[in-house]
Formats: sequence, structure tokens, C-alpha cells
Amino acid sequence: MSFTKILLTIAVIAIIWFGFKYLARVAEIRSRGGSRPAPGPARPEPAKPLGEDVQDMVKCRVCETWQPARTARSCGRGACPY
Ligand SMILES: [Zn+2]
Repeated sequence: MSFTKILLTIAVIAIIWFGFKYLARVAEIRSRGGSRPAPGPARPEPAKPLGEDVQDMVKCRVCETWQPARTARSCGRGACPY
């Protein structure tokens, strides 16, 4: 086998390798986009707007967790104020 042939073989293998990697990446991105059509804004727990609602957080004396005052729920303990 000549040196040129070896180089050519390596080049072909590299092209195939990177081609498969690229295709796998494209397929992964497509499958992600299909399962989650709207990432970010449509999440169940969206990021809190900066500066807003910070003062509305209330702390439970019993369970010591912070919750938004409007949606505060009881943690299930007897002395929980919510
Ligand atoms: Zn509580």
C-alpha cells in the first residue's frame, strides 16, 4: 500500500466519522425540539422576574421554607401558618 493510499484511507475515515457525528447532533437537536416545542417561557417553573415579587416572599416559621405570599401553601405540619 502506498503512502498516498494510506492518507486517502485516513481522510475517508475521518470524513465518515465527522459526518456521523454531525448527523447524530442534528438528530438530537431535532428530537429535543420535537419533545419540547417551547423551551424557556413555557416551563412549569419560569424564572422569577428580577426585582418583582421579592418582597412578597414569606417564610414559614415551622418548616423554614420561603414561599410567595400569594401562593403560600401549608407544608402539612400542625403549626404551619399557611
Ligand atoms: Zn410550613
